[in-house]
Amino acid sequence: MPRKLAYDCDVLVIGGGIVGLSTACAITRSAPGTRVTVLENGPDPARHRTGPGSGVIHSGIHHRPGSLTARYTVRGAAEMLKFCAEYDIAHAVTGKLIVATERTELPRLHALVQRGRENGVPVRELGTAQITEYEPQVRGLAAIHVATTGICDVAALARQLAEVSGAEIRYGTRAVRAVRLPGRGVAVLTGTGEEVRGRVLVDCAGPDHDETAGGESYELARPELVRGLVHPVPEGASPSLKVRLTRRIDGGVHIGARAEPGRPLSRAAFTAAVRRLLPAVTEDDLIPAAAGAQAGPGDGTPADDLLIHQGERTVHVRNAPSPAATAALPIGREAARRALAALTADG
Ligand SMILES: Cc1cc2nc3c(=O)[nH]c(=O)nc-3n(C[C@H](O)[C@H](O)[C@H](O)COP(=O)(O)OP(=O)(O)OC[C@H]3O[C@@H](n4cnc5c(N)ncnc54)[C@H](O)[C@@H]3O)c2cc1C
Repeated sequence: MPRKLAYDCDVLVIGGGIVGLSTACAITRSAPGTRVTVLENGPDPARHRTGPGSGVIHSGIHHRPGSLTARYTVRGAAEMLKFCAEYDIAHAVTGKLIVATERTELPRLHALVQRGRENGVPVRELGTAQITEYEPQVRGLAAIHVATTGICDVAALARQLAEVSGAEIRYGTRAVRAVRLPGRGVAVLTGTGEEVRGRVLVDCAGPDHDETAGGESYELARPELVRGLVHPVPEGASPSLKVRLTRRIDGGVHIGARAEPGRPLSRAAFTAAVRRLLPAVTEDDLIPAAAGAQAGPGDGTPADDLLIHQGERTVHVRNAPSPAATAALPIGREAARRALAALTADG
């Protein structure tokens, strides 16, 4: 008679970022009593991409209608706000302006309005004079106001998910290799040589490469000049440097720009780009941001769509593109649904 295998848990999650923790939480919420273990390489839940993120709750306006990223971001934004309110996590619905400063950007701005409406995002088109209703210091030819964009303390949110998940979270534990067990289940070998066994494995370790952002980055010395988020019309053929003004939940305003390779920017050129949106700014208002404080792929612009791969006893959420922090609760629910289905099939 075959020897019965002992499992450390029912579902073993690799990666305790916001996606892994949302998955753990969704599993224990929808199937109480399910034993979940999370292996997290870092010392706490929000070190890798989740913690340093800008904490923007994106609206989902930029994403291809019907894509998983669009659907999960729109839904995730609403759920994230609800979660923050429920657990008293700092958050604010600031709204966002997407501003065209050049005529060539107007067709793209208009296309974005259509896309927003298709995605079910509340958008309002603004002429030059109406921009100041929302942002008295901002100037542009035309803009879109997106009402649902917000900001939150994403690290606090991740810690709260860890707490309410009821999962056993093993910090400082690196998963080195996963092997399929004879019969059923999966064993993960850790960096310390331990073997952790689960019936089903969910991989939420993030991309193999670091999704770090290139670019210039400053803090605004007078954050009172901006009320919420002010972003340019993305992409397009315009050769001008485009900056994004992003208010954070701690009250600061981050100003970021994607760098063109081989085109280092002078402070004067950066200031000129900021002044196209915010004429009151001078060079003295720009304080170089601390390393790592850049707002990068998390600006909500399109990335590849989310991919969730499924094997017999494994679920892989490795490609959770930005803004996956916003979309994390629905992503976690879908990963949990699949993990629980695999668990049920396993008997
Ligand atoms: C600069 C920047 C700003 C951003 N701003 C925003 C924003 O404002 N709003 C937004 O919605 N999104 C934003 N994003 C995107 C968002 O941060 C990510 O999409 C999101 O955090 C992804 O969550 P995750 O759990 O998949 O990844 P992670 O947070 O990277 O979590 C993966 C976890 O797995 C762990 N891990 C990896 N390998 C192993 C292993 N072998 N064993 C054990 N553990 C392992 C890591 O330590 C990590 O904690 C931003 C991203 C960047 C880079």
